[in-house]
Amino acid sequence: MHTIDTICVISSPLGEGGIGILRISGPDAQRILKEIFRPRKPRSPTESHRLCLGCIVDPTTGQEIDEVFAVFMDSPRTYTKEAMAEVYSHGGLAPQRRILSLMVERGARIAEPGEFTKRAYLNGRIDLVQAESVLDIIQSESDEELQYALQQLKGGLSTEIVAIRDALTQALAEIEAQIDFPDEELTISASATLSHLDHARTGITSLLSSFSEGRAIRYGLEVLIVGRTNVGKSSLLNRLLMEERAIVTPFPGTTRDTVEDTIHMRGLKLKIVDTAGLRKPKGLIEEQGIERVKARIPTADIILWVVDGGRTFSRDDEEVFQAIRLKDVIAVVNKSDLPGKLSKKAIKEKGFPVVETSALTGAGIEGLKDAICDRFLTKGHRDGRVLVTNIRHRDALARALEGVERSRVCCTASEPLEFAAFELRHALHCLGEITGETCTDDILGQIFSRFCIGK
Ligand code: GDP
Repeated sequence: MHTIDTICVISSPLGEGGIGILRISGPDAQRILKEIFRPRKPRSPTESHRLCLGCIVDPTTGQEIDEVFAVFMDSPRTYTKEAMAEVYSHGGLAPQRRILSLMVERGARIAEPGEFTKRAYLNGRIDLVQAESVLDIIQSESDEELQYALQQLKGGLSTEIVAIRDALTQALAEIEAQIDFPDEELTISASATLSHLDHARTGITSLLSSFSEGRAIRYGLEVLIVGRTNVGKSSLLNRLLMEERAIVTPFPGTTRDTVEDTIHMRGLKLKIVDTAGLRKPKGLIEEQGIERVKARIPTADIILWVVDGGRTFSRDDEEVFQAIRLKDVIAVVNKSDLPGKLSKKAIKEKGFPVVETSALTGAGIEGLKDAICDRFLTKGHRDGRVLVTNIRHRDALARALEGVERSRVCCTASEPLEFAAFELRHALHCLGEITGETCTDDILGQIFSRFCIGK
């Protein structure tokens, strides 16, 4: 057990509330609870895993502080695997602070952010992926985010990483055996080693490909609404957000700066950004607005290129197309309620998917939402599918894949097997960074410092 000292903290958010929760973890948890808690009925206050009604009492003065529930949980069946105690007091600042100072006076130290979860990890109850998923659960904003965080907590991603590591360990063992006993007749064939490598490669590639969806769910995507003036960009933003967020007028050039807001659609977090219409600027403010749009185009995840279905394709439209043609684009032919003057063929020839909408009547808006989501969500059933949602995991997987690829090349190109073994050890190290086996203190520090106090 990694335990050194006993930590304590107020785990519930500070302020007024129905209940306040205080936690202690470490070798002195039982003693401290015994010293400050007096059960109402004559029974042991530290019977394990049993909730007990009573009073917190200052042992030096005998003064009652608050009526509480308390529970002692003996090691190892606890969150941290250490002995733990929890006290459920009234949710005001005064009782919680008094109880916390009693704990500190009796030898506990105030916990750092994430220290309970860090102890759970260091004591081997959960791996690093699971520890990170605890934070993801706390921070999740949509049902989908919560569902995937929970899946990670239950070990979904860890199981896949372990399977990939097993395949690589097997391949490494075979390669090392051939290095150590080059003259002996070994039953291991090169094709068996390659099949382990291919198995690992397929597993890593599949996890990496899930990141585009995972990222959209966890971190969100930027959807940039772009087009020439007066085509209905602001009206479209308002429709998508279902509120009058941007000012709509019949006068061209109303939107000078970007206007943005975030919505959740089918589990995706989408930051929708309305931008100044692109045209030859009339004045300094509009010029700067247009510069801002152009600066955002390269980083946008998807662009809604809005054209006016009631007017012919103009030079301004063509200039907008030139600015976005290399991006992931959905062409939105708006004002479908007006007699169509725009050649749809000309738009289709640009090679983007086309959706017709009327921001005025709402026609086609659901179809547009579907088109946006379909770009990022896997079609069909998602239940049970493991998704990579964390940039740290994605980066480590990408590095591991490079190692596997290089090792494969070494094996097939008859290069010295030592090179293949070196690359495989590197790939294993990268995978270990994800689950925590080969993680540096710096990385651990970074991960747990993002946690809130009390978790
Ligand atoms: P933006 O300059 O591209 O942001 O366009 P706006 O959203 O400000 O709209 C410009 C004008 O077009 C306003 O008068 C809107 O009411 C009108 N408009 C926007 N969308 C539609 C639509 O789908 N149909 C019709 N008939 N008018 C629309």
